[in-house]
Amino acid sequence: MDTDHAVIIGAGIGGLLTAHVLADTFDTVTVLDRDSLPDTPASRRAVPQDRQAHLLLARGLDAFEAIMPGFRADLEAQGVPFGDDQADVRYYASGRRLPPSASGHTTGAVSRVLLEHLTRQRVAGHPRIRVVSGRTVSGLTASAGGARITGVRTADGTLPASIVVDAGGRGGHSARWLAEHGYPPPPVETVRIGMTYVSRRYRYDPALLDAPLGVIVPSFPGQPYGGAAGREDADRIVLGLQAMLDADLPTDQEGLLTIAGRLPDPALAGILRHAEPVGEPSRMRFPESVRRRYERARRFPAGYLVIGDALCSFNPIYAQGMTVAALEALLLRELMHAGPTGDLARRFFRGAARLIDVPWSVATGGDLRFPEVDGIRTPATRLAGAYLGRYQRAAHTDPVLSAAFLRVANLIDPPARLFAPALLLRVARAG
Ligand SMILES: Cc1cc2nc3c(=O)[nH]c(=O)nc-3n(C[C@H](O)[C@H](O)[C@H](O)COP(=O)(O)OP(=O)(O)OC[C@H]3O[C@@H](n4cnc5c(N)ncnc54)[C@H](O)[C@@H]3O)c2cc1C
Repeated sequence: MDTDHAVIIGAGIGGLLTAHVLADTFDTVTVLDRDSLPDTPASRRAVPQDRQAHLLLARGLDAFEAIMPGFRADLEAQGVPFGDDQADVRYYASGRRLPPSASGHTTGAVSRVLLEHLTRQRVAGHPRIRVVSGRTVSGLTASAGGARITGVRTADGTLPASIVVDAGGRGGHSARWLAEHGYPPPPVETVRIGMTYVSRRYRYDPALLDAPLGVIVPSFPGQPYGGAAGREDADRIVLGLQAMLDADLPTDQEGLLTIAGRLPDPALAGILRHAEPVGEPSRMRFPESVRRRYERARRFPAGYLVIGDALCSFNPIYAQGMTVAALEALLLRELMHAGPTGDLARRFFRGAARLIDVPWSVATGGDLRFPEVDGIRTPATRLAGAYLGRYQRAAHTDPVLSAAFLRVANLIDPPARLFAPALLLRVARAG
């Protein structure tokens, strides 16, 4: 492959991190975004999730730092608070508090808009990367016979590239664009969760949020509502309430208080009642998790990759998307540095599939515990779901089980760790 020009579709978190990585090996990298990109940490029209509460897992922060050394210092300079992603967060599971434990891993309580803004600033300062705002990609160009993608089409004409990366988010245009060149769509897995999010910001007040980084109260079978409240940037609290299974989630104060009142941690209702709001509540629907299995596609062209939400978009309550996008970008860097890239797409999609398997099984494993959620339940997944229920009940009084559970939820350890003989024994004893 000649290494002159890479084009990335989308300047979200996935696209910007990919630009960084590709700038190591390509002479120029162009990132095209249909949105008008702000110069400040501001919400964008095309990224509605940036109004919603976001948590960056410690593993994600490490990956951001590996791609952009000094990034953590950038966050610190903005006053972003840091802490242990377990010890400094009050966690609940199945409606009861988990004993606190330290993971030894640090994360920063940063908003999605500030994170993207700082990443965009790094890209803007890079001599080989060009970010073009307000430019929509409408299709791909290909070599005669279509074996290789050779660039993108926009309203301004075509832009040639030696590699094109779709980082265009969960809308997933790639299947349609590739079909125009004769490629069948990839197998797609979906898990319908009928999720609604409502988030609102408040001025930070330590008397109202008494956990150093925040409180997380996930929904569980029998309780479709969940919520979280966390520090955000220098001086905010972000409060997020969630409803699964198409349960009603209003945005008015009284309705939000009713939902928060059903949750076991009093901080959520306390913030709603007494904290000083900054802006209005914002609501977003997220009907389903989607995994596009390009690693199983029968045919795939050279010179084209798909990354971030465009490849896999997870139930947001598990807070995995940005971390997975960053890990995929690191995988791409590893493959680019490893030498000849003739087989890049196949190797990238296989590696990404291995990487996605863990967060996907954490998220879908949790979702399929809800009997209302449609999905394939094998005897093994049923057994794992039942075990997870027992495990969580035992973890409420067993700090060892709690610590191991949170390490899996934070993508530090693989889910298989919960089945280690010593932990099976503790669950059995508690049962
Ligand atoms: C409600 C909600 C809460 C979430 N909470 C968390 C969380 O707590 N932690 C976490 O890690 N993740 C969370 N996520 C997921 C996270 O937001 C995404 O995984 C992350 O933003 C990575 O997305 P991306 O860069 O792949 O796509 P996006 O951020 O969606 O960016 C895609 C970009 O592509 C551009 N684009 C699209 N089509 C075109 C086109 N044709 N031409 C040019 N440009 C185009 C768009 O304008 C956009 O800028 C949450 C998601 C949701 C919906």
